[in-house]
Amino acid sequence: MGTELRSSDLVAVREQLGREPNTPFTVVARCTGGHPLVIRNAPLDADGAPFPTTYWLTCPAAVKAVSRVESDGWIARLNDREATDAAFARALAGAHRAYAEDRAADLPDARGWGGVGGTRRSVKCLHAHYAFHLAGGDDPVGAWIAERVEPIHPEQRAGRVAAIDQGTNSIRLLVVEPRADPERDPTELARDMIITRLGQGVDRSGRIDPDALERTVGVLARYCRRASALGAGRIRVAATSAVRDAANREDFAAAVRIHAGSELEVISGKREAGLSFLGATRGLDPSPAPSPYLVLDIGGGSTEFVIGSAPGRAEHALSTQMGSVRLTERFVRSDPPTREELAALALAVDDALDQAEAHLPIGDAHTFVSVSGTATTLQAIALGLPRYDPEAIHRTWLTRTDAERVTDDLARMTDAERAALPVMAPGRGDVIVAGAMVLTNVMRRFGFERTLVSETDILDGLAFELLDIR
Ligand SMILES: [Zn+2]
Repeated sequence: MGTELRSSDLVAVREQLGREPNTPFTVVARCTGGHPLVIRNAPLDADGAPFPTTYWLTCPAAVKAVSRVESDGWIARLNDREATDAAFARALAGAHRAYAEDRAADLPDARGWGGVGGTRRSVKCLHAHYAFHLAGGDDPVGAWIAERVEPIHPEQRAGRVAAIDQGTNSIRLLVVEPRADPERDPTELARDMIITRLGQGVDRSGRIDPDALERTVGVLARYCRRASALGAGRIRVAATSAVRDAANREDFAAAVRIHAGSELEVISGKREAGLSFLGATRGLDPSPAPSPYLVLDIGGGSTEFVIGSAPGRAEHALSTQMGSVRLTERFVRSDPPTREELAALALAVDDALDQAEAHLPIGDAHTFVSVSGTATTLQAIALGLPRYDPEAIHRTWLTRTDAERVTDDLARMTDAERAALPVMAPGRGDVIVAGAMVLTNVMRRFGFERTLVSETDILDGLAFELLDIR
């Protein structure tokens, strides 16, 4: 989190604020029209000074609605309540503490003072509390404001849903609202990804590690609160490879029941393939990208190959036990990896590709579509982006030459050097070489000179299914 920023968001927020935003930010929640509602500010402003407000309400209509509550005198009344109502005071203190912890992750000094609105006690700014609530914070004041001011936009439509994809490496959230015209893609209200490595060691031990589980459940709870705050009536949580293979997957399922209020869906490799294909190909323009399609989804624990003759229609699929985390854990001991380690890794990839070649008509595919953080991050590097911008990456072509060049460069770097690249998501730097080798070897083996890189994938497929979009 914290490295992604779309160019169009910069324009929108500049307009909303009526000035240049003075700290770098990411969008954590959007309104019905898709414009930014809440942004998350970087810990330091443009001049390098600490910036106390992590979550900032930017939608002008929301700002106005909350200002009205403030001018009705509610700040004083809420502070009176803090003094007289012990349970409320405890919940408020908890919100301040959680907010300060959140900021302290980037700026350790903030632990002492970085509560909601830059204070550690009482209520100072209702906008800050509401923004924290919308960002998934457990905030009694923010939740109370939501009841008073929502809906912010009268045309707000019903039918919002959320999908959470729990992979081996990362946990991802998507909250969407259907459009009046079902042919158009739903409006995205939130999209987020955090690498928690739930699958760490599952390959060796067959079990989810307790620390990895705790990290992941913390994010899951936060995502579910955010989805509910954005009005999602249903929260669907799907788990793929790592959870599927773990003996103690019931521990994770229990957390899903509590936070999402739904049953964990453990998705088979085959279903995973179909959903990836739907998310990656829906709405593809056949003129630059003729069918049939090969969709490659490089995950942490497995890689899916899917072939289909039309968008959304997967016809052949294969799930291989080849993933960036799994391959790294098996073959890489040195930093940077040695030539011998890379050679062993390449051999394992080759074996999996033999299997794919034997089972799938890959030669029939006219367009090769790549999804997953491995592919999008390689493209971000190939394009020389100064920051991770999904708009600049989605459905652009990555040539084989560029993919190979970037892979070679990454393989020569240390984990720390890769992690320091501005487009690298925290936690991806040490496993991306293995993922990149899967991608380049697929291109070489099957003769693809370029691949269409897609930001939409299984997560979108899960949400489309909830909305009955096929
Ligand atoms: Zn708005």
